Parts: sequence; structure tokens; C-alpha cells
Amino acid sequence: MDRIYVFDTTLRDGEQSPGVNLNIKEKLQIAKQLVRLGVDIIEAGFPMASPGDAAAVAKIAGSVKGVTVAALARANFGDIDRAREALREAEQPRIHTFISTSDIHLQHQLRMSREQVLEAAREAVKRAKSYTADVEFSAMDASRSEIDYLCRVLAAAIEAGATVLNIPDTVGYAVPDEFGEFIRTIRERTPGIEKVTISVHCHNDLGLAVANTLAAVQNGARQVEVAVNGIGERAGNAALEELVMTLYARRSLYGFNTGIKTEEIFRTSKLVSSLTGMPVQYNKAIVGKNSFAHESGIHQDGVLKERTTYEIIDPKVIGVPQSTLVLGKLSGRHAFKSRLAELGYVLSEEELKTAFARFKELCDRKKSITDEDLQALVDEEIRRIPPTFELKYLHVSSGTTVVPTATIGLTVHDKPVEEAACGNGPVDAIYKAIDKITAVKCTLETYGIDAVTGGKDAVGSVIVRVRSERGQTFLGRGISTDVLEASARAYIDAVNKIVADANGPKLRPEV
Ligand SMILES: [Zn+2]
Repeated sequence: MDRIYVFDTTLRDGEQSPGVNLNIKEKLQIAKQLVRLGVDIIEAGFPMASPGDAAAVAKIAGSVKGVTVAALARANFGDIDRAREALREAEQPRIHTFISTSDIHLQHQLRMSREQVLEAAREAVKRAKSYTADVEFSAMDASRSEIDYLCRVLAAAIEAGATVLNIPDTVGYAVPDEFGEFIRTIRERTPGIEKVTISVHCHNDLGLAVANTLAAVQNGARQVEVAVNGIGERAGNAALEELVMTLYARRSLYGFNTGIKTEEIFRTSKLVSSLTGMPVQYNKAIVGKNSFAHESGIHQDGVLKERTTYEIIDPKVIGVPQSTLVLGKLSGRHAFKSRLAELGYVLSEEELKTAFARFKELCDRKKSITDEDLQALVDEEIRRIPPTFELKYLHVSSGTTVVPTATIGLTVHDKPVEEAACGNGPVDAIYKAIDKITAVKCTLETYGIDAVTGGKDAVGSVIVRVRSERGQTFLGRGISTDVLEASARAYIDAVNKIVADANGPKLRPEV
């Protein structure tokens, strides 16, 4: 079987999803899980975006082993030098440089001639090559580029030392037959292409990202750029789990394998969803809540008699937990820690201490703590550090005949502050009281609530999207058996992110 290399861009393109702003700890947690999942290349970020992004790439580069770590750079020396700096400690560094090759982008965005772009590509690859042997070149908006010109740019990149050539469908415009044909033509017309790996990066604007990627693979692409849960700019990127499981479920048809440990897929999906605050739609292929749920009586009957009657993938293969009941009131710190390790979390002593304290609080309100409860709780601990504001207490009075009123106690840099406010509902009252304390100007854009697990004592998870004064959006998440408390925690989480993000709007290039 031929090997397909999985290039994961969850931490770069995925992180560019509207509202997603991962901090360095969250990124590291995801990177470590991606290593366990068995991806070949982790695109850790775009170091030029901000000092925080550069620091996160450097942290990941220095912390993960046995995997290639890529950093994105536009085709200029400043970006490439910054990428090299961030990758200094990487075991297997890769610089990923890109420039647009479509006339639309050349004319309207870059304002450069074709010859200028070709030169810039050549010089950028040369510069990157002087730092690392592993250089990837992307021709942005390749699918809308004139093919002869595109092949000339790619040939120049090969000549300059590129080892991977990426053909992105940046705007998600391609369709499978055409895109497969496109890759085949590029292979036929680009001198030297047999020496390098062909890669594709497909966006999902028409819902075809995975189909286009598969078509490319059938026509010679051997690296696929994907993101967990298909997150990314706009409608997102090709979903890692869908692509990998298609190659797995239909391996006799395709004849390709990957290095992915499929039993880590479900856990990775959960982790990414939780840390990014982007929920997975119920009917999402492979990892959606309904993916293995059989509602029709005939189907249920069939699956009970023989699983393969209506299931093409055994849920065990992607690591869907078979039983969920785990811990309770009597569980000690050791059991807590070891269960977390089984779920893929490695926490510092400090994080463990606060997470365990919240676990004990939760045990007082809920009899059995499932893996999902645990995960939600721990993710909240990881993602909330370091907080400026912390919830201490909350009192709400609400009903059909009273004006909803909330009293909130927060600590602000460890100093206690209390405020009260009225609103048109309890959540509104809570948020107004929080606003009075934090004095952070922002607007609530969306508010969503979901039960983490079933049952009337289920843990509620609230996700809010908040827009800062500077126009950036931030997601906040809070969990609790009390939905009002979860609402308060989610909002405080988002406000903490606004305060922590001192850099302002980031440079966000899209490949
Ligand atoms: Zn992209």
C-alpha cells in the first residue's frame, strides 16, 4: 500500500476559524494529542501573526518529538526568518512558504506581475532552504490559476529546493473530477515534480473538501492538508477524520494507508471541539453525536443481530468509549489523575489541583461523573489560565413576576469585588453585573447551551461568542450543573480572553 502523509493544520488554519483564539497551553495540549493521533506534520502556526503566535510555535517545536513541525511564512524574508526562529528547537522543522498564483489575486491583492511573483517564490524557497532541508511551497489560489503559469512557478520552486508542493483550493471552488484532472496535468507538465511530494489543501465552501482531496490522491497527491473536525477559515478545511476513515473503510478500493491511530480520532475530536469552543454538529460524519446512533427500529434490530448490517465502521475503531460511567464522590486524586491520563490529558501539579477541586464540587451535585463531564471540566481548567477575573459566587432572583436580578462576586487579580444588576432575564442580569465589574467593552454575539451528557442532572455547557471593541471575536465556555453558573463562567472566560489578548487584531493569511 502507498502511504499518504497527513499534514494537520488544526492549529493554523483551524485556529483561524472565526472566534477561535487558542492560548499557548491549549495549542500545546492539542499538539501533543496530534502526536498521539499519529499525524506526520503539525502546522503549528504563523509566527509573523503576533509574538504570541511565534511563542506558541516555538513552544510546540521544542516540546513534541517524532513529528515534523511546520511554520507558515509568506514569500518574504521577514516572514521566513521569523518562521526559522520559531522552529529553532524543532526535531524535524519545515518552513511552509506561500504566494498567490491566480490573476485575480495578483491584480487585486498583491498588485504584482506574474514575473515578480515567480521571482518572489523562487527567492523565498531559496531563503527557507538555507535554513532547513524540508521546505514546502504553496501556490495560493492554485485552483483558479492559469495552469501553464502555475506549472512554471512550481518548477521554479522545485529548482530552488522545495521538497513539497502544495496545490490549495483556497476558496473551495473546485469539484472532484476537475480537481483530480488538474493535479494530473500539473504532474505531467511540471519539470522535476517526480522528485517532490505533491500536497493538496482543500476548503469546504461547497462541501467538497474531502471529495476533492480524495480525487487529488487518486491522481498522485501524497500529502493531504486537513483539520480535526474540518475546522478552518469560512466553511473550513477537509476534515481529518473523514478523509482518514474513508481511506480506511474503503482501503481495498483505494489501496492507501496513513500513520493515523484511528482509535485516537474520537478523543482528538472532543479535545479540539472543547478547546476551540466550536461544537461538532450532531450529524457530522464519523465524530458527530448521531454518527453511530440508530433511530429506526429496523436498523436497531439489524445492528443488534449483526453490527455490519447498518454500520460501516465499528465505533471502537475510532475510539468511541464503550462505557461512560467512571468516577464519583469517593474517587481519590489518584483515580482522577489516572483517568485523565487515559483520556489523553497530562496536567501540571497546579492544574491538577484546581481541576480536582472542581471535580469534588461537581461530585457534590452529580452522582456519577462520566468521561465527558471530566473532559469538559478539565478543558475549562486548561483554557482559562491565566484569568484576570474569576467567579466567586452568584445569586440570581428570577421568575415570572419579578424583575430578574443578579448579584455577582468576582475576584479581579485576586481582589474580591461585588456588583448587582437587573436585566430582561437572569442571564442578561448576570452579564450586566459582570460588565459592571470588568468594565471591558464588548458585545455578546451568540449564546448557546448544551447538555454534556444525558439525564436530568447533566452538566450544562454554555458557549458564548463575544466581540471586543477592536472587532475581534472570542469564544468563552463554561460548564456546571447549574446553567446560570455555566453562563456566567462562559462569559467571564471570553472576557478574560479579551483582556489577555494584548496584541490586537492578528495578521491572518489564508492559503
Ligand atoms: Zn486554508
